[in-house]
Amino acid sequence: MLERMMAKWNTPIYAFWTPIPTIGYDDGHRYHEFKCFKKSCSKSVRRFLDKSDATSTGNLHRHTKACWGADIVHLAMNAGNVENARNVLSKSKDGSIAEAFRKAGKEQVTYSHRQHMKMETRAEIVRWVTENARPYSIVKDRGFKNLMKTGRPEYYLPSPHTVSRDV
Ligand SMILES: [Zn+2]
Repeated sequence: MLERMMAKWNTPIYAFWTPIPTIGYDDGHRYHEFKCFKKSCSKSVRRFLDKSDATSTGNLHRHTKACWGADIVHLAMNAGNVENARNVLSKSKDGSIAEAFRKAGKEQVTYSHRQHMKMETRAEIVRWVTENARPYSIVKDRGFKNLMKTGRPEYYLPSPHTVSRDV
């Protein structure tokens, strides 16, 4: 049960709380008690498993913002997952946390759900071949074409000539 719940605790907000909550009972109702990760803070938040707030992060968010500051929380949420955020928190001294989160957020690459338009594909390929010193002919590479076109055989790829002209 705890393992299954923990798999859901993937949002970065949990990084501000002890990784494994205490399990307790109050009047027969089971709860998870999360303790604030900040050493100087003694706040803990209980979530009852049989109530609608069992997986709600509202109370965790509220205290984290009050305790660490809204900026830090915002940056942490951009850092991707709880693993990244926990790394940042455990390695950084107080003053450098915001900076470390900013860096973690930048390192995270996100991909659009929408396919590239022809011109966007051409621009991305120009960027790729110039930044990584690839030959123009790489757009004809069998493996590359296979990766790009599998599942979407109509996907547009420019010819090596077009790439060289675009560069
Ligand atoms: Zn706190």
